[in-house]
Amino acid sequence: MRSSKDPDFGATGQFELTGVYHSDRKADATFATTLGMERIKSLLLLGAGEAHLQVLVQLAKHRRSDLDVTLVTPWCFKTSAAMAVGYVAGDHALSDCQINLENLVANSGVRWISARCSGLDAATSTVMLDYGAHGATVSGQRTSSLVGRPAVLTADVLSIDTGTVLERKRLEAWLPGAFDHALHYKPTEQFINRWTQVVNQAKSQPGSALRVCVVGAGTPGVELCFAIRHGLKRAGVEHRVHLVTHDNGVASDQPISVQKRVVAMLKKQGITVIEARCLQVSEQGLRLSGSTTLEAQAVVLAMGDEPPEWLAHSGLAVDSMGRVEVNSQLQSTSHRRVFTTGSVAALAGQPHAKPGINGQWAGHDLALNLMATLSDQPLNKHTPANNNVSFVNCGGEHAIAGWGPISSEGHWAWQLKRRQDKALLASYEL
Ligand SMILES: Cc1cc2nc3c(=O)[nH]c(=O)nc-3n(C[C@H](O)[C@H](O)[C@H](O)COP(=O)(O)OP(=O)(O)OC[C@H]3O[C@@H](n4cnc5c(N)ncnc54)[C@H](O)[C@@H]3O)c2cc1C
Repeated sequence: MRSSKDPDFGATGQFELTGVYHSDRKADATFATTLGMERIKSLLLLGAGEAHLQVLVQLAKHRRSDLDVTLVTPWCFKTSAAMAVGYVAGDHALSDCQINLENLVANSGVRWISARCSGLDAATSTVMLDYGAHGATVSGQRTSSLVGRPAVLTADVLSIDTGTVLERKRLEAWLPGAFDHALHYKPTEQFINRWTQVVNQAKSQPGSALRVCVVGAGTPGVELCFAIRHGLKRAGVEHRVHLVTHDNGVASDQPISVQKRVVAMLKKQGITVIEARCLQVSEQGLRLSGSTTLEAQAVVLAMGDEPPEWLAHSGLAVDSMGRVEVNSQLQSTSHRRVFTTGSVAALAGQPHAKPGINGQWAGHDLALNLMATLSDQPLNKHTPANNNVSFVNCGGEHAIAGWGPISSEGHWAWQLKRRQDKALLASYEL
């Protein structure tokens, strides 16, 4: 199921050492002195999570000539996972789900390195880069101080917003066969490519029903089931969709009243829920607990992603799940010049709090604190967004909305969600 054409950043555990980063410190110092500054300071943004996109927006609005900013992220666009569900369902075009990073980078005066971070030494603020099997580019306005493709980078301040990942070694130990035979919902860019291939292949073989199994019944897994069913129906592909869940039930991350609506909607749409532990994935489908097997031509994993292993070896203080421990200013509790947001961050002492998970909101505070650290100014406290409305996209322009114990559903909820998602994407169009 894996395509040799996909950039396979880090998936094989190998990376090329292709050059060394040489910041021309002497030239930078001369430039800084000319401007009456002590020296140009460097900021390294790892990953294009939403908080970092917001930092780029802030940098574009308030350009600073005393700052050398580099963004490391593999793709030249970012695909919104929330909107991608609508693409799979056939409700949006792919271009509606994508944020053009090249524009954002150019307008914010940032250098973009198309690579993946594969190692980090927090003590020396050094980052190792993996360019994947298909090469990469360095672009942006500040390329003059780069020689070739740098293998390592250092910076005065680091910020991490890379999201969770699926690592072959850990996945193979947990679910044999899954890395090679299942599609994972992360990274969204790769999932979209592979899912489009599955649908096209099914369209070219009419007559046989496509059996799809989604493993993992949190909100992403449930939304994917609904979207896959609607998308296949629209594409005229005969299909059967199963949702496999173990332990936690369906949509357990949602309020109880939303969970009940989700269960009813799965039934209404003819999606079978199978309660079993998934033991193995093969080309034929799934082997489940209770000595049962489930035939499938496509298996989608909507679980199993974790913070990347390189964070665990970085020297940064991490929690029991491998997430970077941060204080209320989004700053690492062990290294004051390292900041972290999104799904790889954990608020110290509050394991259930999600610091900076609302990326747009967190990005404002993160940008302020990055600038404050670079100028040795006091930091601001990040207050998590108080947004209690949650949505489950059911495909077919229908969604379920929940506010604490109350829930409702309909086309209006889908429209509201779509408006929110679109407004977020529009805020990155500079
Ligand atoms: C099906 C689905 C539906 C969702 N629906 C919603 C929704 O409706 N509303 C909502 O708020 N959230 C939704 N989410 C969650 C949301 O999309 C984000 O995944 C979540 O907010 C976590 O974001 P993040 O900032 O941690 O990282 P991500 O958004 O995952 O971003 C990480 C970025 O870092 C890059 N990267 C990864 N590894 C590296 C590396 N080693 N080096 C450099 N760059 C790297 C990635 O390419 C990516 O650009 C949904 C997720 C899924 C899967």
